Amino acid sequence: MPNPDHADSENLKDAIEAILPALEKFNRFEGEDASAREKEWKAALKEDLPEKGVGLEEVLGILTDTVIPNGLRNGMPGFSGWVTTAPTSSAAAAGLAGMVAGTQRFWVQAFNTLELVAVEWLKELLGIPKEWQGTFNSGGSVANLIGIAAGRQYAFERIGIDVAQDGLPPDTRWRLYASEEIHHVVHRAAAILGLGRSSLAHIPVDNEYRIDLKALEDALKADKKAGVIPVAVIATAGTVNTGTIDPIEEMADLADEYETWLHVDGAYGGFGILDERVAPLYKGIERAGSIAVDPHKWMAIPIGCGSTFVRDRALMGRTFNLGEAEYLEGSVVEGEAHSTFDNFGELFHHFNIEQSSPSRGARVWAVLKEIGKEGMRERVARHNSFARSLAELAKMDDRLELLSEPVLSICCFRYRAPEMKDEELNDLNIAIAARLRAEGQYVPSTTVVNEQLAIRPCYINPHTTQAEVDGLAQRVREIGDEMTAEG
Ligand SMILES: *Cc1c(COP(=O)(O)O)cnc(C)c1O
Repeated sequence: MPNPDHADSENLKDAIEAILPALEKFNRFEGEDASAREKEWKAALKEDLPEKGVGLEEVLGILTDTVIPNGLRNGMPGFSGWVTTAPTSSAAAAGLAGMVAGTQRFWVQAFNTLELVAVEWLKELLGIPKEWQGTFNSGGSVANLIGIAAGRQYAFERIGIDVAQDGLPPDTRWRLYASEEIHHVVHRAAAILGLGRSSLAHIPVDNEYRIDLKALEDALKADKKAGVIPVAVIATAGTVNTGTIDPIEEMADLADEYETWLHVDGAYGGFGILDERVAPLYKGIERAGSIAVDPHKWMAIPIGCGSTFVRDRALMGRTFNLGEAEYLEGSVVEGEAHSTFDNFGELFHHFNIEQSSPSRGARVWAVLKEIGKEGMRERVARHNSFARSLAELAKMDDRLELLSEPVLSICCFRYRAPEMKDEELNDLNIAIAARLRAEGQYVPSTTVVNEQLAIRPCYINPHTTQAEVDGLAQRVREIGDEMTAEG
């Protein structure tokens, strides 16, 4: 019997099976990408809201013919742009499973338990102490916001103010401290938390792009003298420009000395600790107050999966507790549950900014169960090796130049021509990157290091092989040669 509103909720298997061939085909990344047909699909999709629906079958047909083939190809082997990739199969399957069978992360049900299991497994994997409270959230933007919010709570409780309850005090000045290489979502977190973007002190970096410890200490000292409240020192473990890891241990020392919170943004690079060649650079991470890590990056979990870990569970609770609500708590039964709905199971909504939330833990659990610690270690080491091998290729080629020595899986390099100045080289490398995107086989992104335009692959994509690494170096050389010969 169809619903009176005509929505089908009985033919899920048919619906999913109907779109699977299109998804399979999409995952082979053949032919041109979506931009080639932009006019067509935009015209087809930007319709008026229909008064009468067309029914399930036609919706599935549009998904198959128009939407999926014109989706985003950031999982193709040659894609190495920004810090993003497409999900691996087990994570996508678990995502679908959760969307259907784990529609909330709370209550007494298997997805609620996997939320906890995955948080615990991630802590163990990343060297985060067992006692810390962890929670999944939507990604690095919120993961950092949650960590910094906990730091804000800590900073003001120290002077007798409960910010979560009473808000920020008037006639008070405060500051956040991070390097110039900090990710821009941290500025927004400061804005949303009422601290203000201007409260972020931009500490200069040394010649390896790590925060300058002397400058950080000077800033903390001067502010202390001036009565400015230090809200948090923020270290980045894997900057998005170069993959640099700030000196965490020394920053922990300074945070201790100035009695402030240390937050570590490891959204991209938190997993780098799995590569024993760079693991020592994470020394001191267990001394932080909070750590943000994005499973939707290096773990290739479907987008919408960040995580935050906070040392002080009670403090995190004071920051994020939802408070009582008859509407929610009314049905909670103490002791053994006789119904899924007898209690909320493992609690996460008092440590987060979301009440309703997708079950993200199942997606993380699926990948860790599938490939284990060993698989993640192998992936991270393999990707870091890709960046190192590209750096070697750049050093060996007289027309390529390495712009920053890789620490993790990012390699910043450029094409160079001996007679060209930096400004011309910047334009040339912008043009080379644009050509690469148009060709579509190798798609890195770009950044600027030391005022020099860098071609910047970041290897987190499980599909990438050494062939795409070598191919990128070769293609940059070829395009550069061609463009300079023309000029
Ligand atoms: C990706 C990233 C962010 C932002 O995370 P989103 O998941 O894109 O919101 C913040 N910091 C660092 C270091 C990142 O790599």
